[in-house]
This record gives sequence, C-alpha cells and structure tokens, in this order.
Amino acid sequence: MTDTMLAATLKDYGGPLVMEQVARPKPLSGQILIKLEASGVCHSDVHVWNGSLKPPTNPAPFILGHEGVGRVVALGANVQGWSVGDRAGAAWIHNTCGTCAECLAQEESFCQTHTAHGFNVPGTFAEYVVADARFAARLPEGDAADLAPILCAGLTAYGALRRAEVRAGETIAIFGCGGLGLYAVQIAKRLGATVFAIDKDPEKIKIAVELGAESGSAKQADVCINFAPTVATWDLMIALVRPRGRIISAAMVPEPVMLNQEWMLSTGVKIMGTSVGTRTQMEELIALHAETPLKGTVNRIALQDVTLALSALYTGTAKGRYCIEF
Ligand SMILES: [Zn+2]
Ligand SMILES: [Zn+2]
Repeated sequence: MTDTMLAATLKDYGGPLVMEQVARPKPLSGQILIKLEASGVCHSDVHVWNGSLKPPTNPAPFILGHEGVGRVVALGANVQGWSVGDRAGAAWIHNTCGTCAECLAQEESFCQTHTAHGFNVPGTFAEYVVADARFAARLPEGDAADLAPILCAGLTAYGALRRAEVRAGETIAIFGCGGLGLYAVQIAKRLGATVFAIDKDPEKIKIAVELGAESGSAKQADVCINFAPTVATWDLMIALVRPRGRIISAAMVPEPVMLNQEWMLSTGVKIMGTSVGTRTQMEELIALHAETPLKGTVNRIALQDVTLALSALYTGTAKGRYCIEF
C-alpha cells in the first residue's frame, strides 16, 4: 500500500469537489481501515456539500460520503471481531458517546453527540476510510454498488418503519417515492402491511406499485411516513392518518409545519421523528436484504463524476441512487 489515496475533497461549499491525493488514514486503537469498492451518494451529502448542514469543525481532509462498502485491509490495536479481508461498511454513524440515555437504550441514532462519516470525520468519497470497529457494518458478499444504498437510504427507511412499530395488517402511507420511499414500500410489504404510495410524480407511483404498493388511494392510514423534502405533504398526512395513528417525519425539512392542538387532543395521533437507524436495525435489514435483495435503481459513476451526481440530486433531476465504483 502507498501512503496516499485518491479522494474527492470539499474546498468551497457548492463548488466542484477536488480530486487529489491525500494521506491514507491509519486506523487508531479500536478502528479498522476499509478499502472501498463502492460508495453511495446520499441526499444528506448534498446538504453538507452546499453548506446548509455544517459540522462544528470540518474534518481534515473534508471528504463527504457515508454509504461505503469495502473490505478490511488493516486493523488498529484492540480491535475485536474483525479480520483483514472481511466485508465491511461505513455508514452515517461513525460512533456515539455510549453513555447517554439514548445510547444505553440501544437507540444510538438519537445520541446527541454522535459523530458521522462525511461530516465530523472523513467519509467515503475516497479509496479508503477509517471506521470504528464497533460501528462498522458487517456485510455479505455480492455487488458492492447494489449494497451501498442499503447503508443509509435503506436503513433510514427501515428505521422509520420500526419507529412507527408497523405491524402486519396495518395500512401504511408512504409520502415521497424517491430512493428512501421505494425502500420503505418494499420493507413495509415484507412486514405484512398494506402500502399506499404518494408522490407528485406519477412515474414514481408506478414504480412503487410495481414494488408492491396498492394502486389507487388510501382512505385512511394507521401510519403516514414522510420522506419528501417538503412541508407540502403535511396537510395530506393530517387528513389521512386515523385517530391514534402515527405520523413519522423522516425527511430533513427546515421549515415549520402547522399543528392544531385541538386536532391533536381529539385524535391522539402520535407524531415522531426518525434518523437513520441503529446497529441492531442495520443487522436486521442486511439479513432481510440477503434473503431477497431489495430493489433499487443504481447509477454507477466514477469518483471524478461525484459533483455531477450531487448537482443532479440538488436539482431533483436524479433518477434512482448514484453510486461511485472504485
Ligand atoms: Zn445518508
Ligand atoms: Zn450517546
């Protein structure tokens, strides 16, 4: 191995990522070094790229990306349970505090001091990434680019359905049928739910129906989940959710929504947020995917084309997920 690696680094918010050789990271105690085969490009990367989501301190080098799939090539000291050659994934969560109430309840995705790949520490738009051995995902063999979006898009969809405590026989309305929404449709189906898909783009609803959503529209839903990055779906969710039903907010929308307190007390609806998922949920999801692969549209790109992918995600012209192959 050489001492350097090729990386796409962020120099100016919203500007083209710069292809350059940077020092190859060394795994410290408790860390593993992963040689990446593929990395997904997520919508959260767009928020970091254009500066609408800024870390308190920029990582150096500032490398985005948090859907990395590769193989362990080196172990730091005190690493348990990993060997060189193992398939490993680096997802959004790099590590968490391990001591707060959320961490102790195994709900570590809500740890308020967690650190994230491509945000607080260098991410996966590079040939190598260092991951915390306790938080890296154990992955099966198979096509790396097909696996990558599972690590964030898939996990966020799965985490949202688990947050809603979806049960077999319930009716679930999925708002926004991009990558996350389409994973949610498939996973909810496998959990035994009846699924309705809502999107302003009829083409996306067509794909959702092919993946198991009902055609036609729901009259009432036990659970409404919003993956659409807009406030426009809020009134529709309020209208559709049944009394004592659940609304899950799973899209990053900075604008506030109206909440009528009379409506809240007369319906008893629960409104909850969700963010990625936990390690246990990651294991469950990967097992589910290994059984029968979840379907997704993956556009394979080279590292030097990553800025084009970020731009396409920003303007909403992307069809399916982008995935860098190394
Ligand atoms: Zn993501
Ligand atoms: Zn914590």
